[in-house]
Amino acid sequence: MLAYLRDEEGPEYGKPDFVLLDQLTMEDFMKNLQLRFEKGRIYTYIGEVLVSVNPYQELPLYGPEAIAKYQGRELYERPPHLYAVANGAYKAMKRRSRDTCIVISGESGAGKTEASKHIMQYIAAVTNPSQRAEVERVKDVLLKSTCVLEAFGNARTNRNHNSSRFGKYMDINFDFKGDPVGGHIHSYLLEKSRVLKQLVGERNFHAFYQLLRGSEDEELQGLHLERNPALYNFTRQGAGLSMGVHNALDNDEKSHRAVTEAMRIIGFSPEEVESIHHILAAILHLGNIEFVETEKDGLQKGGLAVTDETLVGYVAELTATPKDLVLRTLLARTVASGGREVIEKGHTVAEASYARDACAKAVYQRLFEWVVNRINGIMEPRGRDPRRDGKDTVIGVLDIYGFEVLPVNSFEQFCINYCNEKLQQLFIRLILKQEQEEYEREGIAWQSIEYFNNATIVELVERPHRGILAVLDEACSTAGPITDRIFLQTLDTHHRHHPHYSSRQLCPTDKTMEFGRDFRIKHYAGDVTYSVEGFIDKNRDSLFQDFKRLLYNSADPTLRAMWPDGQQDITEVTKRPLTAGTLFKNSMVALVENLASKEPFYVRCIKPNEDKVAGRLDEDHCRHQVAYLGLLENVRVRRAGFASRQPYPRFLLRYKMTCEYTWPNHLLGSDRAAVSALLEQHGLQGDVAFGHSKLFIRSPRTLVTLEQSRARL
Ligand code: ATP
Ligand code: MG
Repeated sequence: MLAYLRDEEGPEYGKPDFVLLDQLTMEDFMKNLQLRFEKGRIYTYIGEVLVSVNPYQELPLYGPEAIAKYQGRELYERPPHLYAVANGAYKAMKRRSRDTCIVISGESGAGKTEASKHIMQYIAAVTNPSQRAEVERVKDVLLKSTCVLEAFGNARTNRNHNSSRFGKYMDINFDFKGDPVGGHIHSYLLEKSRVLKQLVGERNFHAFYQLLRGSEDEELQGLHLERNPALYNFTRQGAGLSMGVHNALDNDEKSHRAVTEAMRIIGFSPEEVESIHHILAAILHLGNIEFVETEKDGLQKGGLAVTDETLVGYVAELTATPKDLVLRTLLARTVASGGREVIEKGHTVAEASYARDACAKAVYQRLFEWVVNRINGIMEPRGRDPRRDGKDTVIGVLDIYGFEVLPVNSFEQFCINYCNEKLQQLFIRLILKQEQEEYEREGIAWQSIEYFNNATIVELVERPHRGILAVLDEACSTAGPITDRIFLQTLDTHHRHHPHYSSRQLCPTDKTMEFGRDFRIKHYAGDVTYSVEGFIDKNRDSLFQDFKRLLYNSADPTLRAMWPDGQQDITEVTKRPLTAGTLFKNSMVALVENLASKEPFYVRCIKPNEDKVAGRLDEDHCRHQVAYLGLLENVRVRRAGFASRQPYPRFLLRYKMTCEYTWPNHLLGSDRAAVSALLEQHGLQGDVAFGHSKLFIRSPRTLVTLEQSRARL
């Protein structure tokens, strides 16, 4: 460790590792962060964890030269950098055949996705020296897939102009030579409610605007679209807004070409790309369809109609389905009325609008999932035989939403924050476990450290039968009208004594919550008040079978493939599908298990200010993030054990000139004995422990003393 002290960087650049701080208070931590940030040092370590602050400007830190500087080096040999972490994960994977993962966390706009791109670029740059064609293809798909996924899964929000509205975990498979031979992407909980509605200042997913602004006139005509996003309900809100991304692809028109080109290079067929455009256009038309009640006419019963049938025609054409069937599906639904009997039940205006919206969201979600699966199909390691080729090793990169507190928090924030609780738990487990394992391996006595374990919050959410998700599922499976309010009451009954749960009913004096609407969870990262409105609906996440069947019967094979569950007849659809909350919980449990089986590397991203401006670090804003990312605790754990550990030969190489017994070479039998003699001469032996292969140093002071005596020579 700590050879970055060797680097040309002096004390004016602050400490490159928070472990080296003389005192560990929030003030000292912030001062160091600020000092380094001002000097353009956006990266700092806590041991092997990398803390990164978004600079909001292009810094000359990346590219082939920088990559060469880190390639094959040890973490401590160069100033802190993402490349060092990528290299660390890569080396562990290659040298020790260990599966590794890089977990990137931080709030929206903190720089997670940019970090994951730099990591991918590093890996692409240092692999495949022999230029094997298949490996080059895989690398190309890995790099290009990001651009495609961002088009469909990212949107401009008030906090980040290119915000990922889904969680992403990507595995890269390597062969025994250390070259990428395949990969797999898992996506988590796309924020599909954005298809319908966006906050002021925000946009729908980039893909819609790219289609409208980037398509040729002729193509647009074919899609029956006008260029102006203000003409469509789903894109009207953000119509005047640009992508606003500070990179080369800073407008929708260029991005449309880049994304279409990327899909082609990755291996999407022209027909598939065409289908994707058709589906996006169909969603836009669907959003403009409105319903009216028809008058009673003589004996004719009053009913429901659409205001503009041409739109229905467009949707039918673009989804390759019969127009009369599209119309029927919009206006009514079939219900099984006992046995094999099926009747048609007309919608009210409200029901039809609700069903239309549910359909638009579902079509978009299925499109997104199809794109992810299609990329996975292309990246699947091909024709590999473990007996011949050896076992693949894997590096996983997790870029997932950070802890989120909005003015109004709903089901989505609840899921996102639960996800962060799970990841925090993993962090605690792994950091502790890793330390403990090393101490055991080296034969060092281990002392445990106290810190807040958030297991009780995770339990509050996911415990069977009584946990919030279980209560929600119960509410969703109850026949008859069950309201969000009743759900809240049940929560109150179950958790009235839980130290991390409260609601207005339980705390009548707390005016920051609304009676009958809000509950609050005391998360490890802070308190969040959730409004239960829409919880049941979002959790149930249902779509009438008629829509599924309609789309399954599409003549467009790409669209059809997205709706395998449309095969079922209404009379067969008896079993309730899993709810959104349960699916999410299952995916989180699987994710955490997967990560826990790998050797972890952590990147903790910090957003310097709310205004997306370069060179300004707002202290209050950052302090909060430092607190909830648990960074001080992280340093404490690292220091309470040992601030530093170094293999004996490396330690000698650095400090042997400070001791007469070790300079220029020692004759003490073993490096361990030589190190012991050196420390004794400095009077530092009380602060260390001798492992089998490494020296463990308790306080950073010891290192500073050694460094000073070295500098005096
Ligand atoms: P979200 O959770 O909303 O997806 P995020 O953490 O993924 O947020 P990014 O999209 O990676 O955030 O970063 C937001 C913006 O900050 C980028 O579009 C870019 O303009 C800027 N940015 C982030 N990291 C860097 C960097 N290392 N150098 C320069 N600019 C950066
Ligand atoms: Mg992102």
